Amino acid sequence: MLNKKFDPAMAINSVAEISAERGINPNINDSATFCFPYGQTMTDTFHGETEGYFLYSRHWNPSNLSLCKALAAMEGTEAAWVTGSGMGAITSALLQCVQKGDHIVASMTVYGGTFAFLNNYVKKFGIEVTFVDTTNLEQVKAAIKPNTKVVYTETMSNPLLRISNIGELRKLSDTVGARLIVDNTFTPMIFSPYVLGAHVVVYSMTKFVNGKNDCVAGAICADGEFINSLIDVNDGTAMLLGPVLDSFRSTSILKNLYTLHIRMQQHSRNALYLAKRFNDIGIKANYPGLPEHRDHQLMNQQMNAGFGYGGMIAIDLDTAEKANKFMEKMQEKGVGYLAVSLGYFRTLFSCSGKSTSSELPDEIQKEMGMSEGLVRYSVGLDNDMEATFKVIEASLRELKYI
Ligand SMILES: *Cc1c(COP(=O)(O)O)cnc(C)c1O
Repeated sequence: MLNKKFDPAMAINSVAEISAERGINPNINDSATFCFPYGQTMTDTFHGETEGYFLYSRHWNPSNLSLCKALAAMEGTEAAWVTGSGMGAITSALLQCVQKGDHIVASMTVYGGTFAFLNNYVKKFGIEVTFVDTTNLEQVKAAIKPNTKVVYTETMSNPLLRISNIGELRKLSDTVGARLIVDNTFTPMIFSPYVLGAHVVVYSMTKFVNGKNDCVAGAICADGEFINSLIDVNDGTAMLLGPVLDSFRSTSILKNLYTLHIRMQQHSRNALYLAKRFNDIGIKANYPGLPEHRDHQLMNQQMNAGFGYGGMIAIDLDTAEKANKFMEKMQEKGVGYLAVSLGYFRTLFSCSGKSTSSELPDEIQKEMGMSEGLVRYSVGLDNDMEATFKVIEASLRELKYI
């Protein structure tokens, strides 16, 4: 398809700044406000961009700008803007696109917080939302209305790891001039949604992008016009709701971004190994890197080369009780942590139905094909996954699950 030659890692690598004192990392700038040489420069900056000048840190600051340049390069977008959480990015991007009376078509398997925002919160602004299975293009087509302003999906869904066809969703969005917003949190570098056709790409950088689980953060990547509209001093959602990322965090995330490609490769390698080994011992693993996963071909068509199929896998242990016992056992034996979230250097596991997808009503969980005993892994960067698997296997044997 479109983006076989797009290399997000090399794109980031081409963004190199040398600080004024010749430090190889950009300086940390912790100023909330910035001074101007002339009154007129300040006036001009209030009315829009004045190259090289910063107004106030909620709007822009040098540290956030450095991170945003690298993120924009990674996504192939003109611009980016960073937020204090993934939800800050998602809610700002969404609210920027809609007003009273508008309609949103959204994936019913979106992240729990996003689902709650769309299902419960936006109602009070008179915004209507239809939830569909975005992997079913007929359903998306049928849900789109003349007043649809946004089609919202995740490239890889949680926890069943279904893949959205971004190019086709763009075509459907275009029929009514809606914006396609894609959450790419699970698959940075692996997918480049903007290159594939999305208008706006959002991230929770809390996960793989930062990869250290030492902060929450988010990003919005899009064309310059959209990013500028978000931070417009008169009516920009991000400027007025104020979810900006702290500049100390920006500089630490920026450094982690330069190792993201190596981390994604190792997360993917370990997840593929684990998925295969689970299958070998008769535990069905859900992983899009396996040919039997129903979106394997679609993933092959859209993915960038060289980063694998991602670090997430899910197995089904039928009941929540069995899942809990197994996770406790794995934690005890040092496989990783019984914790929500993902993209950490160590393995994290949780029972999706009772945790990260608990905002989804039971009917939707059923319709998605989600079992209550589903254990989701965010596979870590273990150097010897075979050794780790032996411990996982021993845990299953001790509990007499195999
Ligand atoms: C974690 C997550 C979010 C929310 O991000 P925060 O940084 O926790 O606000 C949004 N989307 C996906 C897919 C996530 O995994």
